[in-house]
Amino acid sequence: MTPSEVVKFAEENNCLMVDYKFLDFVGIWQHFSTPIAEFSEETFEEGIGFDGSSIRGWQPIHNSDMLLVPDPSTVQIDPFIEVTTLSLICDVMDPITREGYTRDPRFIAKKAEAFLKSTGIADTAYFGPEPEFFVFDDVRYASSANESFYAVDSIEGVWNTGREEFPNLGYKPRHKEGYFPCAPTDSHVDLRNEMVQVLQSVGMTIEAVHHEVSTGGQSEIDMRFDSLLKMGDTLKWFKYIVKNVAFRNGKTVTFMPKPIYNDNGSGMHCHQSLWKDGQNLFAGDGYGGLSKMAMYYIGGIMKHAKALCAFTNPTTNSYKRLVPGFEAPVNLAYSNRNRSASLRIPVTNNEKAKRVEYRTPDASANGYLAFAAQLMAGLDGIENKIDPGQPLDKDIYGLSPEELKDVPVVASSLEDALDHLEKDHDFLLKGDVFTPDVIDMWISYKRESEIDPVRMRPCPEEFALYF
Ligand code: GLU
Ligand code: MG
Ligand code: MG
Repeated sequence: MTPSEVVKFAEENNCLMVDYKFLDFVGIWQHFSTPIAEFSEETFEEGIGFDGSSIRGWQPIHNSDMLLVPDPSTVQIDPFIEVTTLSLICDVMDPITREGYTRDPRFIAKKAEAFLKSTGIADTAYFGPEPEFFVFDDVRYASSANESFYAVDSIEGVWNTGREEFPNLGYKPRHKEGYFPCAPTDSHVDLRNEMVQVLQSVGMTIEAVHHEVSTGGQSEIDMRFDSLLKMGDTLKWFKYIVKNVAFRNGKTVTFMPKPIYNDNGSGMHCHQSLWKDGQNLFAGDGYGGLSKMAMYYIGGIMKHAKALCAFTNPTTNSYKRLVPGFEAPVNLAYSNRNRSASLRIPVTNNEKAKRVEYRTPDASANGYLAFAAQLMAGLDGIENKIDPGQPLDKDIYGLSPEELKDVPVVASSLEDALDHLEKDHDFLLKGDVFTPDVIDMWISYKRESEIDPVRMRPCPEEFALYF
């Protein structure tokens, strides 16, 4: 839509308020609203000023004036605000130069798309993320026995102690057995279906819906792939809707990668492919029906995987998921069909559906940054013809240490990922997609605001071991 079409759309739908949404540095939506009378075509030209110093990881106080400029192509009616409210996602700009703000994740995603075009390799990168999540009871409705408490119990190791749970949990999916018995064992059918209706109401195409392997309502709702920036926006809507539908049903959703000890965690596998003039450049006649270009793309991801983890698995909790035995990949290998490899080539005879599935990422990632970083690693592989080596078509979890000794692994902790990013980020700086300031800021923010506070706090397991 153009600005004037958005204004008309707001009138036709009798919108009374406008809600402006934008991202902070780590990728959480922020928002504020104005009455509709304050909104016009000029809003798209002039933007709206705000204080950037109050946003995590942004401008210092002496330089805090920033500008939000709504993107007319992102218009929606917000499904959760009672008064009919027009919703727009905004770009963040410098009020003086009117250039995009280098720490705005959306700007980084836009620059990644522009860089891809400038290489002439392809015109479009498609991403299809699969964000898994857990549904727990909301503490507002907590009784003495609900799943939120079990999550906490589980962290303390209830699964190993065999301690009895109350009330009767005959229908609760057993440990690692959530994939996928019917109701009543799957007690979230109606909740997920309600989520799907709202996701569709903002234009998303939903392809499949199911309970996932873990107990505790672990769920997956699969959406159709889209181009990089659009998928970044769609992923924000996805999380917003899933969480808000859960909230109004007395439930809480978390995308935290590993909320329950010793059960499956939540990943965000990213299916990806490059296209030019409507042709899928990943389809070919090589291994798994992939092209040479797709192989080099895989080579690039494998080469930079440890540094990439800083964006694809950016929390301390991410590394509690990346352990063997829970369908989350630890080894950097590619394979046809194999779910223990970090890169899977899904089986399909359809040329258009040929793609690479990178299984390492999780949904604690900021989608814009995670997609952009994966694309940059893949492009580096293509430009430098990086050979990914031989495929590994075996159950990697079953291999002996001897057989595994030459198979590389993903980062082992957030510290490890940031240390690698510090040394290996030139591939991200091409085309000014990520700037040195963004890399430095990401590393110091994560070290100071996440690693240190976690490192300095005693955790439940330490009490079990040492108290
Ligand atoms: N939950 C698994 C993970 O952490 C993935 C399960 C699946 O294959 O969908 O990646
Ligand atoms: Mg899944
Ligand atoms: Mg998958």
